[in-house]
Amino acid sequence: MPKDSLNVTETVEMLQAVARAIIEAEPELTDADRNLGDGDHGIGMQRGMSAVLEKFSSGELETISKAFTGMGMTMMSSMGGASGAIFGTMFRSGGKAIEDATVLDAACLSEMLAAGNEGVMTRGGAKQGDKTMIDALAPAAAKAKESAGMPLHEALVVVAAAAEEGREASRDLIATIGRAKTLGEKSIGFPDAGACSVAIMLRAMADYCVATA
Ligand code: ADP
Ligand code: MG
Repeated sequence: MPKDSLNVTETVEMLQAVARAIIEAEPELTDADRNLGDGDHGIGMQRGMSAVLEKFSSGELETISKAFTGMGMTMMSSMGGASGAIFGTMFRSGGKAIEDATVLDAACLSEMLAAGNEGVMTRGGAKQGDKTMIDALAPAAAKAKESAGMPLHEALVVVAAAAEEGREASRDLIATIGRAKTLGEKSIGFPDAGACSVAIMLRAMADYCVATA
């Protein structure tokens, strides 16, 4: 059955699916960061996601919030680099905002993505249009807000599509922050690596919730 909302165990399962999707996408993420940065994004994310799988394999989590904050803290401590801080903050800020949640539904997803997006912008100083992961995350958060009344699986399908559109739109942007900044107009034509990661993560969440297994 497609899932209208998730309990704690299902939320952890969904995040494990996210981790596996990123590990599998390492070559794509490496290529993306090679075009615009130093080529380490795929390996960094892979390292972080392996640590996340390890963390989730040991012991029960009590709340939805702790699943997200735990993922964020594990990324921060295992990855390093800009994306350890940036993606770690996304999950940590997102998780903190849903402390009272007993189920993950579309309203909760919306709160989480809004807080994650805010947290990353505050921490990293990037705004939409700078050609970073914000260019996938901000449209995803906006779509989640519009979709907060839907069943979770329907919301995640449109939220993932918004992130993918954001990733594609990032091709046309000139990087104004991070390593790619030095490329100036030469950064046009390639999608941002972090935006690719955001799109893959949200698509994996959607696939988990839509799956009828
Ligand atoms: P590094 O830049 O240290 O090599 P990664 O290659 O792992 O780190 O990650 C690069 C990605 O991190 C970029 O593609 C971008 O999406 C994201 N990023 C970098 N700096 C910022 C920032 N200040 N705000 C938001 N995202 C950022
Ligand atoms: Mg890099």
